[in-house]
Amino acid sequence: MKIGRFEIEQLSEGIFEVFEDGTIHKVHSEDIAHPTTDLEGIRVSSVLIGIDPILIRDGKHNVLIDTGLGWGLDAKSEYENTSNLKTNLDIFGLTPHDITHVVLTHLHFDHAAGSTYVDLFAHTQPTMDYANYFLQKKEWAFALSQVDQPLLAKGGNYDLDELYKLAADQKLVFITDARFELLPGIELIRTGGHTPGHQIVKIHDAGETAYFLGDLLPSEHHLNHYAMKQMDVDPLQSKKAKTLLLKQAYEEGAVLLFYHSIHTKAGRLMKDVDRKYVLEDVK
Ligand SMILES: [Zn+2]
Repeated sequence: MKIGRFEIEQLSEGIFEVFEDGTIHKVHSEDIAHPTTDLEGIRVSSVLIGIDPILIRDGKHNVLIDTGLGWGLDAKSEYENTSNLKTNLDIFGLTPHDITHVVLTHLHFDHAAGSTYVDLFAHTQPTMDYANYFLQKKEWAFALSQVDQPLLAKGGNYDLDELYKLAADQKLVFITDARFELLPGIELIRTGGHTPGHQIVKIHDAGETAYFLGDLLPSEHHLNHYAMKQMDVDPLQSKKAKTLLLKQAYEEGAVLLFYHSIHTKAGRLMKDVDRKYVLEDVK
């Protein structure tokens, strides 16, 4: 998809089933309709999500937003033949070395685990070795404060062991501004809510606009109602930020990109006759 000079791709790692205890496994598209049952045939409570990091290219820069699950990146990984950053970048003739900037919306493992991998000598390495990783200072501080604490919100798992290495290598850029221009036309906006340091990305060029709203708006199903109460650290702030951003995006005729959608992964924000938000196909 084109937004002004930017070429935007969604790097899909597939569809995953997430269970109440936080375990996650990959599902094949033909199994989506069949709910998982336990040994006694009782339906197990789970949700299906996609995992879709974003690649933005403008000919000079290759910007990656969120880094996926990182399955199959480690030298001795148990995962084989799985889609990850490497295999997905390869489709566009790129490798992780070609990434110039990494943006992390927040540090939950499903958004940040692909940031590093373990090499043959059992050393943690940055996956995108030439890039800096841009995140909110508040997010880092909050993640550190959650180590050894009971989970505040469902799915809010931080796995910081590997990220300490990025910090030690000075690969992390801690943003203190609520709005930060990463490049002309790419702006990071702190929203809080889902986590205190959650940020989203606005892409704007030549009169065209797109938003990647991270876990503030994980999929198309969250457009017209707020259903993240159990997932958000500050539900009220999430709802407020989401309402304001959607209003803004609608006025701008913007395209929305989703990280966790299974079906509609992107669309132009419109309203139907009932004044409800709908998405229109973008080519
Ligand atoms: Zn999250």
